[in-house]
Amino acid sequence: MKKIAVFPGSFDPYTKGHESIVEKALGLFDEIVIGIGDNLTKNYMFDLDTRIKHIQSIYENYDRVSVVVFQGLTVDFCKSIGAQYMIRGLRDTKDFEYERNIAQMNLKISGIESVFFMTVEEYASVSSTIIREIHKNGGNIDLFVTNAEKLV
Ligand code: ADP
Repeated sequence: MKKIAVFPGSFDPYTKGHESIVEKALGLFDEIVIGIGDNLTKNYMFDLDTRIKHIQSIYENYDRVSVVVFQGLTVDFCKSIGAQYMIRGLRDTKDFEYERNIAQMNLKISGIESVFFMTVEEYASVSSTIIREIHKNGGNIDLFVTNAEKLV
């Protein structure tokens, strides 16, 4: 059976930190589905179409990585596409504390197992929030985002 994992997030925008997690996960899973969670009550800086196209441009030569938008519970999305695992990235103990509770609840309600990868040190301080701040103020985000020119 194929091992399929969902990497869920807002990806507003998708950073080299996110990329480093997918690179690591490709060694463990047959297929990675990057799931863009579309929360109707949340305000995003980059619209959905821009985020999809940006992430797709990064993985155009990867046949084991795809990009899909979903609404609702991440575990329901995992089940709907036959994914047995969910991937999350950990930058620090704050991420861990937050993710631990969610992972335990998700396992209880669905049987979907969460798998965690530590970020590479180089990108440990990269967050979409900081990238948005730099971008908003006209700063250069090329160091932290691949194909940043797609984010217009
Ligand atoms: P969410 O809104 O679900 O937190 P994000 O797009 O912010 O979505 O993040 C998606 C996942 O990527 C989360 O597991 C988050 O911890 C992880 N992540 C974010 N930035 C980094 C980074 N620099 N290095 C490793 N993992 C990261």
